[in-house]
Amino acid sequence: MLRLERVCCGYGRMQILHDVDLHLDEGEIVALVGANGAGKTTTLRAVCGQLRPGSGTITFDGASTLGRRPDELVRDGLVHVPEDRALFGTLTVEENLRMGAWTRTSAETEESMREVFELFPILAERRHQVAQTFSGGQQQMLAIARALMARPRLLMLDEPSTGLSPKLTWTMLDAVKRIRDTGVAVLLVEQNAKQALGIADRAYVMESGATVLHGTGAELAGSAEVRKAYLGL
Ligand code: ATP
Repeated sequence: MLRLERVCCGYGRMQILHDVDLHLDEGEIVALVGANGAGKTTTLRAVCGQLRPGSGTITFDGASTLGRRPDELVRDGLVHVPEDRALFGTLTVEENLRMGAWTRTSAETEESMREVFELFPILAERRHQVAQTFSGGQQQMLAIARALMARPRLLMLDEPSTGLSPKLTWTMLDAVKRIRDTGVAVLLVEQNAKQALGIADRAYVMESGATVLHGTGAELAGSAEVRKAYLGL
């Protein structure tokens, strides 16, 4: 579904990614883990069209994404939730959700609204509340729900556990599994390696802008060497 080959990318003249290779199949959760500054966020930005790689290829369903705008990629089903969540703070839950449905008809919007309220009942209860009054966990749920309103086939989540307690992190990651179970593939960036590997079908470890290891979530979580050398566990 998604394939990156030898992707090099950065900011201005500063190259951050060095030959990143990764792939993701339909219906998988793939985690990208690694230390601060390893290049995980930069990888997501390259995939969603926010950054243009200097070299390498990125394909989604076999077609190159390079040179395509982020809004075109959203229409194709590739939706990104950035780490800062980028909610409209003065708009209500329902208004934020409608903003996420800009590619959809109104009947589709109502259907998706019902689905996301089922996934996150707290959002249904607070549908008329403005986003900026929410706790970190609720804001994260809203950001994911808003992304789901575009009916993604691939959802990219950047650090969904930021600012959440360990318990809320599990709740969030459990929602990510339920999203995967509805057939949406998920590319999950997490610093919280232990928990991310616990739910990932497969994972890549990034170090210094490169994907240095990959395996199933269980394989990576079970390797003492990986835990010590790359994950600081
Ligand atoms: P973190 O968890 O800290 O976000 P990360 O693995 O996601 O880590 P990136 O955010 O991709 O890492 O950052 C990789 C490198 O790129 C870092 O050295 C960072 O300082 C740099 N960087 C990130 N964003 C920018 C930017 N907008 N302009 C310039 N450099 C940036």
